[in-house]
Amino acid sequence: MLSPLDYFFGLFSLDIGIDLGTAYTLVAVRGKGIVINEPSFVALDKRTREPIEVGARAKEMWSKNPKDILIVRPLRDGVISEYEVTAKMLGYLIRKAHEQTWVPVPKPRVVVGIPTGVTEVEKRAVYDAAIDAGAREAHLIEEPVAAAIGAGLPILETRGSMVIDIGGGTTEVAIFSLGGIVISRSIRVAGDEMDEDIVQYMRLKHNLLIGEPTAERVKMDIGSAYPLPQERTMTVKGRNLTTGLPDTVEVSSIEIREAISGSVNILIDTVKDVLDDTPPELVADLMESGIAIAGGGGLLKGFAERVTEEVNIRAYVAEDAMTCVARGAGRILEDYNNLRRLLVGPERGSTQH
Ligand code: ADP
Ligand code: MG
Repeated sequence: MLSPLDYFFGLFSLDIGIDLGTAYTLVAVRGKGIVINEPSFVALDKRTREPIEVGARAKEMWSKNPKDILIVRPLRDGVISEYEVTAKMLGYLIRKAHEQTWVPVPKPRVVVGIPTGVTEVEKRAVYDAAIDAGAREAHLIEEPVAAAIGAGLPILETRGSMVIDIGGGTTEVAIFSLGGIVISRSIRVAGDEMDEDIVQYMRLKHNLLIGEPTAERVKMDIGSAYPLPQERTMTVKGRNLTTGLPDTVEVSSIEIREAISGSVNILIDTVKDVLDDTPPELVADLMESGIAIAGGGGLLKGFAERVTEEVNIRAYVAEDAMTCVARGAGRILEDYNNLRRLLVGPERGSTQH
């Protein structure tokens, strides 16, 4: 039962779900949906190490290489490598989400999605950062769990469900039953790795030097994990490695599929490994319900078809795949009594200030 006080707070309080992704950071607010969706970049003053800009504006500064400003991508490899900076970014986001409300509301309740395998120290840092930023309550949830909720999977039920979340830095594969992760894998191969594959490929096969942003565009436009109904070509601009001069090269979707095949195969093998370790009853459930794919990397053309063919279970891209984690994290607060057991430490109140 909700106490009258809880009920009152529930009516007006700001409930926030945050996805600290390696590529993008998203903030979902109950009743409003996604209010912040920005690249995970922070621009710091080199002297004071205070954030000057967060998100798209910081990413813009990055390409300009300013002298007194340090650009940090604190979540680059899927772990909170620069957790002090992460804490500052989190604080900035929570305050920004809070400021966007019209009426004075009580301090927000926040659920933050964190990668699996994050250390206790890192969890504590994220938790403390949320509290320092003015959260009334802060909770942490493992990303695959949030992704599964955001994708609408029935993870509290006995029957098994499965999610593949492909981000920029990490891919997480997890099987759920009865509200818990039965089996999961987290690997450091995801969208960024494919961009690097394309940079390498263009250099070795076409003698052309391109940057990662160009490689990412090539991947999004013509990259694939499965033969396309109609194969395509694209003109890529870069610098000729022999002459040092600007040059253009025409590449085909078949070539790019080959270029990223190593990374794609690692993802497929990981999915197979997880299924190999899954109890047969749960595999039978998956054959009915399918495999949900979340995260931006999951939008790679033909990836769902490729998984379906390789493991003989229907895989599909979840609706609004890039926002699953943030929406899933926010949803916990809507049904807190039922879903709170999905949260992970550190426990509220155990912080020593
Ligand atoms: P994270 O959770 O790590 O922040 P996201 O879920 O935001 O990551 O996904 C970012 C990755 O998704 C990037 O590598 C980006 O290039 C990739 N991505 C986004 N859209 C597409 C697309 N249409 N096709 C292929 N990859 C995509
Ligand atoms: Mg993610």
